Parts: sequence; structure tokens; C-alpha cells
Amino acid sequence: MIPALYIVIPCYNEEEVLPLTAPRFLQKIDDLSRAGKISGESRVLFVDDGSKDSTWEIISSLAASDRRYMGIRQSRNRGHQNAVLAGLMEARDKCDITISIDCDGQDDISAMDEMVDAYLDGCEIVYGVRSKRDTDTFFKRFTAEGYYKLLRGMGVDVVFNHADYRLVSARVLKEFASFKEVNLFLRGMFPLVGFKSTSVYYERRERIAGKSHYPLKKMLALAFDGITSMSVKPIRMITVFGLIVSAFSFIAILWIIIAALGGGTVDGWASTACMMCFIGGVQMLFLGVIGEYVGKIYLETKARPRYIISERTEDKQAKP
Ligand code: UDP
Ligand code: MG
Repeated sequence: MIPALYIVIPCYNEEEVLPLTAPRFLQKIDDLSRAGKISGESRVLFVDDGSKDSTWEIISSLAASDRRYMGIRQSRNRGHQNAVLAGLMEARDKCDITISIDCDGQDDISAMDEMVDAYLDGCEIVYGVRSKRDTDTFFKRFTAEGYYKLLRGMGVDVVFNHADYRLVSARVLKEFASFKEVNLFLRGMFPLVGFKSTSVYYERRERIAGKSHYPLKKMLALAFDGITSMSVKPIRMITVFGLIVSAFSFIAILWIIIAALGGGTVDGWASTACMMCFIGGVQMLFLGVIGEYVGKIYLETKARPRYIISERTEDKQAKP
């Protein structure tokens, strides 16, 4: 059976770039269906992540111009991860495969051919991996690659240099739907679902137009979430560190008592002050890390909806 493909594209304030990139996605669907790899029921699904500019109007008029364009709109801005999730959940019952990709033209759409081929060969998840980071600044490249290594060190199973450009089959999405967490880190979650997977490589380019909506602050938040949503290793490391410090303290106390009994004690201001600073600092830091997890548990127990769709473009298919 020829699979139906849905390309899921999160958009946030992208009025500058969307009119340029949307036809490329449609063209890709056209090419792939002409090659007989995907069916005529394939679609380009935009997810407007509560944009404040005319992004939704652009999506609506695209949908009116061609039935292969569709759009859903989030009731407010919830961030990239939630937008992708909303799109995937919307698509999962309607298609056989999804490919999530950013709308700014940075990810090379020609990798989609290989992704679909890999699916036809039996892979259920195909990760798009950046082969080079030439267009990134040194700072971004250094921090990003260091971060992937850190994640791995924390025991999080991530594909090196893979962001959110990936093919996922409807079969995987069906299982993925039962991952109910609200703190999303999709690139760390999909490997947990399992199934046969592979990677395809592509070069990441510059944004075609508009500007990035991932300032350093958002990037750090995602990086932090990535670790604390996927791994409890930091807490374990704290425990080990605490044990070591406690052991040393115990030895130190014994030494202090013996020294005091021997009567040879001097004014120990420096050592006392050092120890107080050290223990105080370490405790504060560790309380912060533990607090981070407690905060996460708090949000998870609330189990608030991860996305709310306020509008959909008209589905022409449904009409007689
Ligand atoms: N995006 C989103 N919601 C947000 C921020 C970004 O849906 O709150 C989308 C954005 O429209 C783009 C993708 O996520 O399609 C990646 O964002 P961007 O290109 O700004 O990030 P960068 O590539 O610079 O990391
Ligand atoms: Mg981008």
C-alpha cells in the first residue's frame, strides 16, 4: 500500500518566510507522489503556534488555494515542542507517516526522499541528522555539540546532532500517544518508543527569511528540560557527592575532637569559614537541582493539556 505522508510544520510569527517555503513543501509532496512513493492523500500540515502576526491568515489562504495544504491553530503560543506534538497528534489518524520540519528552510527538504525510502525499507523512525554545522556560529556549534555529549553522559538516548526533523510512522505515533508527560523533549522521547530506526544526513542552511525565535534563554530552557525531563542522574550524582562530603566531614570531625582533646587547638577561623562557605554553597545548589525535579513533578501531576487547538482550516476532503 502506498503511504500517505503528512509534513508537520510548526510556525510562530513566520509571515516573512512562510510564503517562500510553503510551495517547496507542496512541491516535495508532488514529487514524491509522482514517483509513486506516497499517496495522493498526502498533506502539508501547518501548526500555527499562536502567532501574533499574519501567519494564520497566510495558512488559511494557502489552505483555500490548494486542498493539500491544511492548518491548525494553537489557542496561544506554547512553544515549538508542543506545536510539533499538536501537529503529530492531529495527523496520526489520517496518515501512515509524518515528517516534522521547521518552516524556515534551514533543514534540507531533499532529505525527505531518503527518509521515505528508509520507511519503505521497513524503518518506523528516521532521524534527520545535521552532517555539518557550517552555518552555525562557533558558539552555537560548540555548545550544541557539548550538550549532546552531556545528554549522553546523563544516560539520555539521543541521536547526535538530530533536532526535530524526523520521519515517524503512524504506528509509532499510536504508541507515542501514551507518553503523557507535559515536559516535552521530543528528540529524547522518540528513541524510548523503540521500533526500527535509522538516520539520514543533511546540511543545515541559513534561515531563508525572518529571524530565529530561539533566543539563548529559550535554548537554555530546552537544554535544561532535556536533562531534567529525561534523566534522574543529576539527583543520583548529588547523592554520591553528598555521601563523599559526609564521609570527609565525619573524618574531619573525628580529627577535630582528637585535636581538641589533645589541647593543641588554635584559632580555627579560616578552616571553619571555608567549610561553612563550601557546605552552604553546595547545599544551595543541590537544593536548586532537587527543586527543579520537584517543580517538574508538580507540573506533571497537574496534567494540564499539552496543546489546545482553537481553529482548523476547512477540510475540503470532508465535503461531498
Ligand atoms: N517555533 C514555534 N514556536 C515557538 C518558537 C518557534 O512553533 O515558540 C517554530 C518556528 O516557527 C520554526 C521552528 O519552531 O518553524 C524553529 O524555530 P527557529 O527557526 O526560530 O529556531 P532556530 O532554527 O533558530 O533554532
Ligand atoms: Mg530555524
